[in-house]
Amino acid sequence: MLIIYSIIIVSAFSFFGIVVSGSYKSIRIKNEENRLFQTANVVADTYRANKEDQIFIRTMAKSYGRQANARILILDSQKKTVVDSHNSYIGKTVDNEEIRSSLASRPKSGIYELQGKEVLQLSVPIMAHSANETKIEGAVLISASLEAISQDLKDLKNTLLKVSASALLIALIFTVMAANSIAKPLSSLTNAVEKVSSGYLGYKVEDRESGEIGKLIESFNEMSGKLKQIENNRKSFINSISHELKTPITAIRALIESLSLGNSSLEIYKEYLEDINDEAKRMGQLVDYLLSSIKLEDISLDLKEEDLAEIIEDAFKLIKPYAEKNGVDVAVNGITSVRTICDRNKVKEALLNLLDNSVKYKDPYKKQNNITISLVKNKNEACLVIEDNGMGIREEYLSNIFNRGFRVLDAEIAANSRTEGYGIGLAIVKNIIEKHNWQIAADSNYGSGSKFTITISL
Ligand code: ADP
Repeated sequence: MLIIYSIIIVSAFSFFGIVVSGSYKSIRIKNEENRLFQTANVVADTYRANKEDQIFIRTMAKSYGRQANARILILDSQKKTVVDSHNSYIGKTVDNEEIRSSLASRPKSGIYELQGKEVLQLSVPIMAHSANETKIEGAVLISASLEAISQDLKDLKNTLLKVSASALLIALIFTVMAANSIAKPLSSLTNAVEKVSSGYLGYKVEDRESGEIGKLIESFNEMSGKLKQIENNRKSFINSISHELKTPITAIRALIESLSLGNSSLEIYKEYLEDINDEAKRMGQLVDYLLSSIKLEDISLDLKEEDLAEIIEDAFKLIKPYAEKNGVDVAVNGITSVRTICDRNKVKEALLNLLDNSVKYKDPYKKQNNITISLVKNKNEACLVIEDNGMGIREEYLSNIFNRGFRVLDAEIAANSRTEGYGIGLAIVKNIIEKHNWQIAADSNYGSGSKFTITISL
């Protein structure tokens, strides 16, 4: 990993270095060329105007040569050197591409290597203008060493190299730090995943991290907590079902044992057999619960257009005698006709479950326990509300009540004889409601009562 990062960083800096030094060199050469062309033109003009004054011309060539840090030659049209700022070429013929081009009235420049050093050479023509013609009298040739530019370029490359090396070092330090800060929480996460997959549900990663890794850890902890909760619900569900199954089995066995003694009257036989029948019915109900718990997710709906008001009326009629027997008053309040597509029996089952809970979890300390059912129709939705003034649900349990197998195992509830159950009713209700693409929400105040709202989109 580190090697890959180093290669990327080194390549990026090399590319940057090549581009920067390349363009630096060409800009400097271009500037030098412009400067020398200007000098060559000035020398050519001065020569043309003062060519009779040889001493002045030589002094001028020397002085411009010093100023420009270059060698200046002035040649006549036959390429013979007339003036040389270094004096040694006077009288000699010089022939090169730049001179030939400028004698053909095209100024020209070129870069050559001389004894391992780069030299810039350029030439401009000396034009003599008369009334009707322009004559080329000769050429000015300037050659300057590019050594200073090469030296500057070398310095620039050195600086770039130092900067690149420091940047590489800093980048590598940061990379190592970043890699460590990712690797550590990831290894804690891997360890936690192994723990959870080996059955340690609820295991949480303690590291507090920020950013995406932090979010991942948070989601993992949440998932692990939920798995634990589901597992707890499952255990308590199996516990209560096994306990509930044991009771009728024990009762049936005791009844059969006493009947098998054979000295009971026909009346007793009949009575005992009825008891056995009741216990068998209870077991049957339990098995039904078990089955509905297993089949919870794959219920299918028999959809038809129905009036929700009628379904509420049906559920109300069914629950009323049972509620009254338990001292709970049920009332239907403000109901409007709402026609919608739904499974009549399943919706009724959900309402009966909610109403049954409202009776079951009544507040034994209240003088009057009551339940109200209402159905209100708005523009795009209808709200079906079942509200009771029962014992209510503590806030910390509220988010769990729709989970399969969850029960509030409260001393208050345990003390109440009518609170048998397996924590499956609300899971069934939620499943039915969500299968219809409706929504259900619970609102409750411990000690005051609960409110279940079903929102039906129309
Ligand atoms: P069960 O009634 O079999 O325990 P449910 O899934 O129907 O299971 O309900 C889950 C839990 O929610 C119950 O154990 C109970 O504590 C709480 N609960 C449900 N409805 C009410 C209600 N109307 N008032 C108070 N508590 C309720």
